[in-house]
Parts: sequence; C-alpha cells; structure tokens
Amino acid sequence: MTGSVTLVGGGPGREDLLTLAAVRALRYADVVLYDRLAPHDRLDELAPGAQLIDVGKSPGHHATPQHEIERMLVEHALAGERVVRLKGGDPYVLGRGGEEVLACHRAGVPVEVVPGVTSAISVPAAAGIPLTHRGISHLFTVVSGHAPLSQSELEHLAGLGGTIVVLMGVNTLPSLTAGLARAGMAERMPVAIIERGYSAGQRTTVGELADIVTTAGRARVSSPAVVVIGEVVRLAHDGDASAGELMDRAAGFAAVAG
Ligand code: SAH
Repeated sequence: MTGSVTLVGGGPGREDLLTLAAVRALRYADVVLYDRLAPHDRLDELAPGAQLIDVGKSPGHHATPQHEIERMLVEHALAGERVVRLKGGDPYVLGRGGEEVLACHRAGVPVEVVPGVTSAISVPAAAGIPLTHRGISHLFTVVSGHAPLSQSELEHLAGLGGTIVVLMGVNTLPSLTAGLARAGMAERMPVAIIERGYSAGQRTTVGELADIVTTAGRARVSSPAVVVIGEVVRLAHDGDASAGELMDRAAGFAAVAG
C-alpha cells in the first residue's frame, strides 16, 4: 500500500511556533526529512517513531540536492511510509514546496501541505517590527534575494511604497540597496536586518538605505537573516520599550511623514 507525504511548515525555528497540525503530523510520522532552518533539536521526542534524515542546506556546505530530496520523498512513500517533509517557515514561501508537491503528484503519491509561520512575517515581529501599521504602511512585498533583482523589478519595488521584506538577502544587499537608491528610494529610508530570529543569537542591526551595507559589514551580519526596508522599521524595539515610548515613535513618524 502506498504511504503519503506531508509537507510541514515548521515556522522560524522555535518549537512553540509549530502548529498543532505540524505536531500531529510529526507524532505519526515513519520518516522525517528536515531542513536546517526547521526546528529540529527535539525531533526524537516530537516524532518518536520516525527515522530522522537531515537534508539541511547550509550555504556553501554540502546539502542533499533538491531532485534527490524529491526522489527520497517518493521512494519512502511508495514503500508504504508516512513521510513528513519538515521545512523552515511556510513550505510555499520561497521554500520549493510546490516542486515537492508536483514530484508527489507525478509519482501518484498522496500529498498534503501543512502551512507554517513564515519567517518573512515572524522574524520582523521578533524584532518588534510590524510589516503594516495604520498611517505608515498598508502593504508589504516579500522577495527573494538569492539572485540580484533586475533594475525593472527594483523600480517597481521602489515605486510601490510600503514595506519590502527580503529573504536570503545578506549576500545581495549591496546590489539591492544601490539598485533601490538608483530607482529613487530615499537614502534615509530605514533598513533593519534581523539575524537568527527566535534563537539565543537573535540580533537586529538598523541603518538607512545609504549606510546599511557599511553598518552590516562592520557588524559582520550573516545569514540566516531577514531584511526589512521601510518606515515601519522606526517602530523596531526589543520588547523593553514602554508603551509611551512606542507611541512617541509612531507619532514622531507621523510628523516626519507630514
Ligand atoms: N520557507 C521559509 C523561507 C525559506 S528561504 C519561510 O517561510 O520562512 C530561507 C531564508 O528564510 C533565510 O535565508 C532567511 O532569510 C529566512 N529565515 C528563515 N528562518 C529564519 C530565522 N529564524 N531567522 C532569520 N531568517 C530566517
């Protein structure tokens, strides 16, 4: 009998940000293939009956290639196993979930997707940054910084306004910020980079479009990190700011925005 594949979004890395559906899928799994950015410290307890396979990609280091992961998913399911593919964040946000679902369809393997808490929204929240805020930003765009954006994409982004969230953007930050400035974005536009969200090593580096590359270089910012570009970065806080301080900051913004 054919087994099944469940693609599970594991959230940004902290175990209590797994959904109940994710926890249930893990509990009944026969095999779990997990990524580097998924919560995996206690998988032996969360998935007590499962064989655990690390297919984690760490930049520059050996990782299981995508086609090989897809082959393994299908092979285990065809052998009758309940397979969980545990991914960081949400499977369908820059996570190649769609490719894995298609591979299962092609092989006639039943496949389900359990959405997860994406780092695009949660990691900024961990730094106190709301992606939208009434009167400041009413939209956000999530882009991959894996490869440099084209000038036309940069012009559209700069022209759209609102908040820009970049995943996998540490290496391409220089071309991104230079391109946005060329496309007319204000040099004073606030930028935040949040590294290792929801871990003990979480750190936020704040600057402006014109100087963030220098600031990030000096701080030796490295991935994984989420880059946020937009006026909402002014609201960033580490959880210690008082309500009064935050209201002053939001009001200060309103004065700037006129
Ligand atoms: N599907 C995932 C994104 C995969 S791309 C999601 O929805 O979150 C991998 C990128 O996500 C990383 O390069 C980084 O930009 C971001 N990321 C994921 N987890 C993170 C974390 N805990 N802290 C900072 N960035 C993170």
